[in-house]
Amino acid sequence: MGKTYKNIKKICGVENMSEHARLSASSSKKWLNCPLSVTLEGYFEDEESTYAKEGTIAHALGELKLKVDLGRITRSDYCFKKENLLKDLTKEEEKELENYTGDYVEFVTETYNKALINCEEAEILIEERLDYSKYAKEGFGTGDVVICDYDSIEIIDLKYGKGVKVDAFENSQLMLYGLGALEIYGDLFDIKTVKMTVFQPRLDNISTYEIATQDLLKWGKEVVFDKAEQAFDGIGDCNYGSHCDEGFCKAKPLCKAYTKHHTQVSKYKSMHPSLLTDEELVDIYDLALSYDKWIKSIKSYILQEMLNGKKLPGLKLVEGRSNKTFTNEEDIIKALKDNGYKKSDYIVEKIISITDAEKLLGKAKFEEILSPFIIKPPGAPTIAKIEDKRPEYNSPELDFKDIEV
Ligand code: SF4
Repeated sequence: MGKTYKNIKKICGVENMSEHARLSASSSKKWLNCPLSVTLEGYFEDEESTYAKEGTIAHALGELKLKVDLGRITRSDYCFKKENLLKDLTKEEEKELENYTGDYVEFVTETYNKALINCEEAEILIEERLDYSKYAKEGFGTGDVVICDYDSIEIIDLKYGKGVKVDAFENSQLMLYGLGALEIYGDLFDIKTVKMTVFQPRLDNISTYEIATQDLLKWGKEVVFDKAEQAFDGIGDCNYGSHCDEGFCKAKPLCKAYTKHHTQVSKYKSMHPSLLTDEELVDIYDLALSYDKWIKSIKSYILQEMLNGKKLPGLKLVEGRSNKTFTNEEDIIKALKDNGYKKSDYIVEKIISITDAEKLLGKAKFEEILSPFIIKPPGAPTIAKIEDKRPEYNSPELDFKDIEV
């Protein structure tokens, strides 16, 4: 998908899609828990991942579909913009987008129709700017869908990712959108509740959270306001937590709080010399996994920085190991033949892999013809956390499962 955010904005002619605010709703979990993250992330370049681009295109397509259905753009305008939006995608990507955005539009339409039954003048806003700057300086975001039926507001947020299931419960991004929606409708109507729904079609996830208006406003004043001030002013704590990884904090590679968390294994350096207990051994195992994960990300960060031309004291880039390889198979065959070698000396006949066989036959035929010949040997023992869903490797239940009593 070779489109940038700005290109997509241009293609769609969508005025309300805007660049992120300093205190963006999508990064709010980070700045509410680690106010300093806003300043620290400012030292790093913005990089739009493939997943983010996919999401932007899905949102733009969903928006176009909703707008044409609601008669807010003409069909020819819709067709023109859609063609432009999808022109760089493969057929498969296009089909996937069509299906999932179709599900999204169906869900939004159903929700809006229900609101119309309750209140025939219910309103729907599509990709509307939601301003929550009363609680977080210069804060605004774009609500995918806001439906207002006079005494309640529903925010629907399309999540196109399929990596992590997003929960609407006390989701600060959606709650900030809720505060923004209250800025639009709060003075006009007696809004009693704000409902927030995550629609994540690729994971079949619809998650909803409803909060009384007064509780949402209280959260804005008592929880958001102070943290937002600190975050905006570049002061406040720098705290490690799940928000670092979940929020893809750009400061991770150089963040001391993140480093401190992942290097806790070093506490064993200063222990009194004796034998480790089982509990300490398990603790070291967990801490070593955390350290390992961190060191991998540090290595990849350093490599990327040096590839970008950065010089780091005591380090240089060199060529890694590589294996010899033939330049061209046809030339090799000819050279061997010319030198008197028989075909059977240098051509090895080999059966195709299971994956290639599946591709060749298709799933159904593969099952029909080859399934009797497929076995899955037991995997080598590996360490897992006790919560892991797989059965225990050497549990008495498994050891004796084939013995008849
Ligand atoms: S990595 Fe975590 S602790 Fe460090 S700045 Fe980012 S959010 Fe804060």
